[in-house]
Amino acid sequence: MAIKRDYYEVLGVGRNASADEIKKAYRKLAFQYHPDRNPDKGAADRFKEAAEAYEVLCDSDKRARYDQFGHAGVNGGFGSGGAGGFEGFGNGFPFGDIFETFFGGGAASARRNSPQRGSDLRYDLTVEFEESIFGSERDLKIPRMESCHVCSGSGAEPGTQPTKCTRCNGEGQIRRVQQSMLGQFVNVVLCNACQGKGTVITSPCTNCHGQGMERVTRQLRITVPAGIEDGTQIRLSGEGEPGGNGGPRGNLYIVVSVKPHDLFRREANDIVIDLPINMAQAALGDEIEVPTVDGPATLKVPAGTQPNRVLRIKGKGVPYLRDRGRGDQLVRVSVTVPTKLSEEQRELLRRLEESFKKDSGDEGLLDKLAKKMRGK
Ligand SMILES: [Zn+2]
Ligand SMILES: [Zn+2]
Repeated sequence: MAIKRDYYEVLGVGRNASADEIKKAYRKLAFQYHPDRNPDKGAADRFKEAAEAYEVLCDSDKRARYDQFGHAGVNGGFGSGGAGGFEGFGNGFPFGDIFETFFGGGAASARRNSPQRGSDLRYDLTVEFEESIFGSERDLKIPRMESCHVCSGSGAEPGTQPTKCTRCNGEGQIRRVQQSMLGQFVNVVLCNACQGKGTVITSPCTNCHGQGMERVTRQLRITVPAGIEDGTQIRLSGEGEPGGNGGPRGNLYIVVSVKPHDLFRREANDIVIDLPINMAQAALGDEIEVPTVDGPATLKVPAGTQPNRVLRIKGKGVPYLRDRGRGDQLVRVSVTVPTKLSEEQRELLRRLEESFKKDSGDEGLLDKLAKKMRGK
């Protein structure tokens, strides 16, 4: 099953948002991420995600099911899991169609008791550029489903017990004898009074309305590892939604996006910055203070530095995620040609030009090019 973010989080609305607020939030996102309008990578995914969230939250029925059961209540679990998807959810579900399906006796009882793994959840976490370099600890609030704390997941009001289903006599399935031209045969169907559980809840828990689950906000502290890359998924096993019928929880995937930085950009484990210097610094060389992620560092620009030359500051790059050490900072030098000159500077440059001409023996540019082509 695909990994899902919390739908309210996707639309950026609160759990108590009105239908109108939900609609507005969706329109805004749809406008922002429409693939015709937004060429960014990921825009199409965000657009689809918002549409999916809206489809559920704009429908009061589906929204109620989502609030009660999380993603398993509205997609995947029921659609793809078919009859197997209902386990653990107690009664109160519109499953009529599914239970009209005929099963063999063995299949029905196997399905009734088989544990279902819970849905995986996704949480998008944006971190600062520096955080991705040095790592951090983050406290997250993850909305997810939990076993109801009042009834411990049974769905029955504390002090009461689920009672044996009278329609199927606690079997969870009903045998029907049918006549056909080939003779008599027995069909086994899941009992739709108890959804195959064999028991019914006569006094539903008032906290969870008999569903055995409630939506809670889970507090989690996670470590963002030093050197993490944009788009990395951190998997937290067993922190997804609860499984049905004693099945294991799904996983929680934290998808990390790294905010771009004004000065620094990452290339593998190096950090690149652009540094403009003037003609004189390029020709004469200089010592310049440049920003690094560790604070300012002194960079020696050698005399005769050409435009686009890349200078290296060792060990000021990104830490290796699975190894010791760090990459380097790469400083890409650009040489700026002044567009505004004072009278004094103009005079100095004129004298410099004269001096260059003397050096080259008053040779014209065409002569020089011709010489070069002859290989001299
Ligand atoms: Zn309860
Ligand atoms: Zn029954």
